[in-house]
Amino acid sequence: MRRAVVTGGAGFIGSHLCERLLDEDYEVLCLDNFLTGRPENVAHLTGDPGFRLIRCDVTDFVHVSGPVDVVLHFASPASPIDYLQRPIETLEVGSIGTQHALGLAREKGARFVLASTSEVYGDPLVHPQPEDYRGNVNPVGPRAVYDEAKRFGEAITTAYRSYHGVDTGIVRIFNTFGPRLRPDDGRAVPTFIRQALEEQPIVVAGDGSQTRSLCYVDDTVEGIVRMAHADHPGPVNLGNPHELAIVDLARWIKDLAGSPSEIAFGPLPQDDPQVRRPDISRARDVLAWEPKTPVEDGLRRTIDWFRRALAQQVVQVGS
Ligand code: NAD
Repeated sequence: MRRAVVTGGAGFIGSHLCERLLDEDYEVLCLDNFLTGRPENVAHLTGDPGFRLIRCDVTDFVHVSGPVDVVLHFASPASPIDYLQRPIETLEVGSIGTQHALGLAREKGARFVLASTSEVYGDPLVHPQPEDYRGNVNPVGPRAVYDEAKRFGEAITTAYRSYHGVDTGIVRIFNTFGPRLRPDDGRAVPTFIRQALEEQPIVVAGDGSQTRSLCYVDDTVEGIVRMAHADHPGPVNLGNPHELAIVDLARWIKDLAGSPSEIAFGPLPQDDPQVRRPDISRARDVLAWEPKTPVEDGLRRTIDWFRRALAQQVVQVGS
C-alpha cells in the first residue's frame, strides 16, 4: 500500500485531499496542529484503518516511521484573517515547516508536493497570470507574511530538488471553495454565504469590481493528486480561468441562497489584488487537467453544506 503524509490535513483543502487519497487506496498520515483547521474536518475518516491523525506542529519537528511515497505540504494559514492574526506562525510554517517537510521527503525518497498560491503573483501586472510571471508583491505590506513565505517555500523546494535531488512539484493554487470552509475565515465565498443565510447585509469590499476566479475543491484536489503522480517540478497553476467580479459573486450567492439580504459596500483592504485569473495552459499540458465543476454547481453544494453546518451550530449553542 502506498503511504502519503499530508501536512495541514485537518484544514479545508487538506481534509478533502486526505479523503481523496484514501479513495485511491493510500494509507494517509495527516499531520496538523489545528491552528486554523479542526479535527472535525477529518472526524469522518478516523474510523478508516488507512487513516491516522497526528497532532503535531511541523515547525517543531517532523518524524514519521516507515516508508513514505509522497509528502503533500499543505500546512499554513491561508485566509487573510488567519495570516494577519498569526503573521509569525505563517512565516515559520512557510519556511521552517517547509524545510522540515522537505527533509522528510528527502529521508524517505518520497515525491514532495508544495501547496503554493496565486498570491506569489501579488497584485499582478500581467493578466491572466502564467507561471513565468514573477509577480508584484509588496515585501513590507500586510499580506507579505503569506506571499513571501510561499515564495520562500518555492525557492527552498527548488533548492532541495537541485542540491539534494528530491523529486519535488509545486502547485500554485488559486481561490478554491467548497464545504468545510470556515464561515468566519474572512474569504469572500464563506463570508457571503454566511451573510446571505443569516439574512444580514452581504458586504462587498470596495466597489466590487475586483475579480477572482473560483475553483471547486474537488477539481483542485484532482489537480493536486495528478501533480503527486507526475514527475514535473512545476510550478503549475491550478485554478478556474472563469473570472468573476466580486459584486457579481455576491449577487449570485444571494440568488442561489434565496436570501433577502441587501448588498452593501465596505472598505477595500490594503494591497488587495485587483484581478486574478490563472493561465492554465501548463496544467492542461503536463497534467491533462482543467476544472470540470461549473461554479454554480459548486456554489450550490457549498451553500447546502453551510446551511447544515450553521443549523448545527445554532442547535449546539441552544442546547
Ligand atoms: P486551512 O487553514 O483550512 O488549512 C491549513 C491547515 O494547516 C490547518 O488545518 C492548520 O491547522 C494547519 N497548520 C497550520 N500551521 C501548521 C503547523 N505549523 N503545523 C501543522 N499544521 C499546521 O487552509 P486551506 O485553505 O485548506 O489551505 C491549505 C493550503 O493550500 C495552504 O498551504 C494554503 O496556502 C494553500 N492554498 C489554499 C488556497 C485556497 O483557496 N484555499 C489557495 C492557495 C493556496
